[in-house]
Amino acid sequence: VETNEEMKKEVVVVFDVEAASALVKELRGNFASGKTRSYEWRVSQLKSVLKMLDDHETEIVSALRDDLSKPELETIIYEIAMIKNSCKSALKQLKHWMAPEKAKTSMMTFPSSAEIVSEPLGVVLIISAWNYPILLSLDPVIGAIVAGNAVVLKPSELAPATSSLLAKVVGDYLDSSSIRVVEGAASETSALLEQKWDKIFFTGGGRVARIVMAAAAKHLTPVTLELGGKCSVVVDSDINLQVATRRIIAGKWCANNGQACVSPDYIITTKSYAPKLVDSLKQELENFFGENPLESKDLSRIVSSNHFTRLTKLLDDDKVSGKIVYGGGRDQTHLRIAPTLLLDVPQDSLIMNEEIFGPLLPIITVDKVEDSFAIINSGAKPLAAYLFTNNKKLRERFVMTVSAGGLVVNDTTVHLAEHSLPFGGVGESGMGGYHGKFSFDAFSHKKAVLYRSFAGDAPLRYPPYNRGKINL
Ligand code: NAD
Repeated sequence: VETNEEMKKEVVVVFDVEAASALVKELRGNFASGKTRSYEWRVSQLKSVLKMLDDHETEIVSALRDDLSKPELETIIYEIAMIKNSCKSALKQLKHWMAPEKAKTSMMTFPSSAEIVSEPLGVVLIISAWNYPILLSLDPVIGAIVAGNAVVLKPSELAPATSSLLAKVVGDYLDSSSIRVVEGAASETSALLEQKWDKIFFTGGGRVARIVMAAAAKHLTPVTLELGGKCSVVVDSDINLQVATRRIIAGKWCANNGQACVSPDYIITTKSYAPKLVDSLKQELENFFGENPLESKDLSRIVSSNHFTRLTKLLDDDKVSGKIVYGGGRDQTHLRIAPTLLLDVPQDSLIMNEEIFGPLLPIITVDKVEDSFAIINSGAKPLAAYLFTNNKKLRERFVMTVSAGGLVVNDTTVHLAEHSLPFGGVGESGMGGYHGKFSFDAFSHKKAVLYRSFAGDAPLRYPPYNRGKINL
């Protein structure tokens, strides 16, 4: 017969500083064995990720439906297919990425040869966010694997079904001697953050990023911070309005109902063009989500009641009263908010002073479209900025003057699918980047190696120094 104490021991699983320390110690030992460094190990883990996604597609779709009511197709494209794509392109290029890169040498070290050797950083921690809980967890894990690291993943507690599914399938499919999932919220993450890591890769908001960076500083641990911000969309008037409208909608409401780090946060257009743009947005929104979008199966719900309350506060702010030109519907019981457009909101309203991260889209107006760039640059640097135009001069000015993690001209959000581009922020929207080869680099140390022979031992290096010998 089990005693009460024994039963309690079985039920309560505590992940505290001691457990975190033991975990890191165990992974360090396994990393030191050299197992994760081999090409074969990396390939086998990538293949296992692919198999895991194939075998569990239905469960993934269902977990995301539980956590966010995420539409099936959004899960299949933006969570599963994106990860498969990362795995497949890494499998194709890994040998090339791992190969030492020849470097040129100069007269300063003559005779010599040199190369840059990519080595794994060691044992790394990945902390991820809830909005794309598969993509934002596994994509960095793939980066850690391809670079040959041991890794601990801490998914977000705000997507609990996906977090527990990840813990289960990662445990079943990947090499648990080097790849682990720790589930939990702030306290478990704090226990992890007390440990010495060789890299911390964090996706989330600026408040927690500051906690992560302070913890990393104690051990001089390098960090990549993938954060958010207010991603702007500038809309010029000489455009294909229907295509532009559809692409704005795709980036905003077809991306987790606006709960995406690269979602359009606000639009800037001219006073004279705004009515046309608003009409077009209304029409296409109705085409996509029907007359009662609160019941649409093609829109995710708001992740939690805290976020629901936060978003409704933005709408109920006195400063935006009378500014809603479309939508505004909400259903607290099912945590749903309809696509909502607001026109001419004041710059000092709440909605213009925090990342919206939801289905509300304010539109602000300017006299000339060129005035938009100064407005964007007056705020914190966003993760992405978008411009719709056919004007080459305007496009050039946009690229040269707007500072953001990434820019897209004539579309929204799609740059993150382009693995030849680094994905990451600048300033308040983060530091460092990943995707494709940039993920490999984010988790590697570029070791400089110089080869010399015993020939050519220049006497001028050695005392007694003789200025006369040197012709500088
Ligand atoms: P968050 O910062 O609240 O949480 C991120 C992670 O930190 C979670 O795993 C959470 O458990 C952990 N955490 C929370 N409080 C903590 C604490 N006190 N100490 C230690 N760890 C703690 O972010 P979120 O709500 O999950 O995500 C939304 C934010 O993330 C938005 O700002 C969004 O723009 C950003 N984001 C960025 C990207 C990107 O790729 N750049 C992607 C998605 C989301």
